[in-house]
Amino acid sequence: MAERLESVRVGIGDAARLAARPIEDITTIVVTKFHPVSLIEELFTLGVRDVGENRHQEAQAKAVELARLGLTWHFVGQIQSKKARQVRTYASVIHSVDRPALVAALASDDAAVDCFIQVNLTDDPARGGVAPGELLPLVDTVQSAPGLRLLGLMAVAPLNAGEPTSEPRRAFARVRELSVGMRKLAPEATALSMGMSQDYVAAVLEGATHLRIGTAITGKRPEHS
Ligand SMILES: *Cc1c(COP(=O)(O)O)cnc(C)c1O
Repeated sequence: MAERLESVRVGIGDAARLAARPIEDITTIVVTKFHPVSLIEELFTLGVRDVGENRHQEAQAKAVELARLGLTWHFVGQIQSKKARQVRTYASVIHSVDRPALVAALASDDAAVDCFIQVNLTDDPARGGVAPGELLPLVDTVQSAPGLRLLGLMAVAPLNAGEPTSEPRRAFARVRELSVGMRKLAPEATALSMGMSQDYVAAVLEGATHLRIGTAITGKRPEHS
């Protein structure tokens, strides 16, 4: 795993140089879903401090067990409104805010939690994320909710057969454009959570500030139901 991590770090460095962007502007989150806590402990010894999970029960159990490491937990999966308050208890950053009901469930008088609004770049509502046309009203809703600090936008590039590079790049460019439009309402919300194992170079070239990388670092995920 050390070698895979190093080669991704080199790849991100190269992409940042190509884009003339400071590497410090890019946070790499290692997505550890389905992997055991032992893998996260190994990542910790390799210097990883930001980890991502996409299922509440699994994330919570790992965060509790590994509390002593002081990791930053990023929640990147879809959230049921009734689980929202629990996700707040361990997640430092929530990448998947996508509807007013979830904002209401996450709102709190406690210390603010960082969050991204996820935009859906497909026509399939099951993929999660707000439709681009509904983005601005949702930005308003997040801005007026207590206990949420909006960092920016999150997106997953649509799956596409073939073409490994140009399609994600176009999708990420679209997210960047949406982000520019959104800043009239939320000038501080400049971050972009986009880029995974297969497309992080394209994401860096389009301005990603938060990469969510799983298999390229962890190896194949264990079988799951
Ligand atoms: C699993 C997952 C990732 C990481 O995917 P890889 O292809 O393994 O890098 C990133 N973002 C989200 C939302 C995920 O669910």
